[in-house]
Amino acid sequence: MKQIYLDHNATTPLRKEVLDAMMPYLTEEYGNASSMHTKGQNARKAVEASREIIGNALGTEPVDIIFTSGGTESDNFAIKGVCMANIDKGRHIITSMVEHSAVLDTCKFAEEELGFEVTYLPVDKYGVVDMQALKDSIRKDTVLISIMFANNEIGTIQPIKEIGGIAKKNGIYFHTDAVQALGKEDVDVEGLGIDLCSFSAHKLNGPKGVGAIYIRKGVKIMPFQAGGHQERKKRAGTLNVPGIVGFGKAVEIAKRDVKNNNKHLEKLTKRLWDGLNKQLKELYLNGHPDNRLSNTLNISFRYVEGESLLLNFDLKGIFASTGSACTSGSLEPSHVLIAMGVPPEVSQGSIRFSFGYENTIEEVDYCLAEIPPIVNKLREMSPLC
Ligand SMILES: *Cc1c(COP(=O)(O)O)cnc(C)c1O
Repeated sequence: MKQIYLDHNATTPLRKEVLDAMMPYLTEEYGNASSMHTKGQNARKAVEASREIIGNALGTEPVDIIFTSGGTESDNFAIKGVCMANIDKGRHIITSMVEHSAVLDTCKFAEEELGFEVTYLPVDKYGVVDMQALKDSIRKDTVLISIMFANNEIGTIQPIKEIGGIAKKNGIYFHTDAVQALGKEDVDVEGLGIDLCSFSAHKLNGPKGVGAIYIRKGVKIMPFQAGGHQERKKRAGTLNVPGIVGFGKAVEIAKRDVKNNNKHLEKLTKRLWDGLNKQLKELYLNGHPDNRLSNTLNISFRYVEGESLLLNFDLKGIFASTGSACTSGSLEPSHVLIAMGVPPEVSQGSIRFSFGYENTIEEVDYCLAEIPPIVNKLREMSPLC
């Protein structure tokens, strides 16, 4: 059976060229990058080459890039690290209602364990954070604004430059989770006024378990992992050399291909959306109509449940994701769609299709042949109609 992978916002396949670049560091070049001898120094050189590629791609100096185990760690580090290092200034953070759980749950930790207050900003019907609400929520004791670059569920891109400007004007640190944006959008950290930025390799065809955080020079942050002196004492632990090398290669390729990829991805998502609308009624696009990641298409299929759709797609070899998470047997709608004001009867039938560079027109056409009959069958059986 065909296998069509349309869940790239969850993770992406490792590119062959990336694996090839990693192979020597998984085999003969196994040195510890902190060792003084030649084997250690070979590993060190590879790590620094990778840092150089990533720093250049972000429009900043490589020295401000710290390698981590991924997006979750970078989000934890940014928020907990800034909170703990700036408690003397205040105990208030601003974030949004549509963040990834790595940010939302870390903010909750700051509330419950560090005594912080958190403002969760509302969004409009497209998932864009309300800039007036942001300005209104700023207080004297605000130490951090954390708002994601691009949303993983709906693809909506936030007004990052504007937020960076507001943060700077008020002397507040600005962190953004750019895990979904790297390789798809221009993440120019200095130009956009970003102080801290989270990244993950496996969302852009790199290996799992490696990521990075950009920390602008001068930002007060407390390292929360004790141990060795790696990464300028900001992140203790032996460096994941093969992972870091793969991450660098993935960023290099993504930067080289980004224009063509985005054109290709736009063509695929548009073809799927237009094609489904020709055959089915009552479909809703979740997310911004234009200002959205070109690979992400989140659709609500009215009168059906997302879980039933997913299972039936899976039987046809179509791998997507639901917008709602099934929590302890009850169908909990996605926090992102709730924040956008999508009514529960619409959000419960939402599916996220997220494409990658290796997807083809033929695969979209296979989906256009297989999906409408599934939706029609489920709608006929549905008590919701
Ligand atoms: C995937 C993802 C993360 C988590 O990254 P990991 O490397 O898997 O820990 C964080 N934020 C966003 C927006 C993501 O899509």
